[in-house]
Amino acid sequence: MPNYVAGVELFNKFKNYSIITEDNHWLWRGHLDNGGHGKVKVNRREFSIHRLALCITNNLDYDDKSFQVNHKRECKFPNCWNPEHLYKGTHKQNQEDRVSSMTHCKRGLHIWKEPNIGVRKDGRRYCRPCANIQVKNSYKRRMKNA
Ligand SMILES: [Zn+2]
Ligand SMILES: [Zn+2]
Repeated sequence: MPNYVAGVELFNKFKNYSIITEDNHWLWRGHLDNGGHGKVKVNRREFSIHRLALCITNNLDYDDKSFQVNHKRECKFPNCWNPEHLYKGTHKQNQEDRVSSMTHCKRGLHIWKEPNIGVRKDGRRYCRPCANIQVKNSYKRRMKNA
């Protein structure tokens, strides 16, 4: 893990490979992964540049799996690595963000609101009306095959 001073040097180096936009997004022009996140090699090791950037500026452990680095809502660029556009979050938070912004169930058939929302034993939420349809369909299929 590079220390902060080395980190600032790294930042300057990375910026040469980035487009700095007028509204201050730092867009990585190098290699990107499937999610569109920038990848960099430092001392032969590959890092996700946005995670590395936040870890350097906030003195976090890059290898600590208990958190993930997310982009703030204002920043729509997965390859942006400006630490001010990033925050330390948990996987769970990310999921909750997604769930709370839903208006309809995954299939888009039902309003995503109580009492339509069921909760499984593992905490995952599901659409009750959809689950009922699935049960009926599998029942019909079974009757057909019988
Ligand atoms: Zn940004
Ligand atoms: Zn549904």
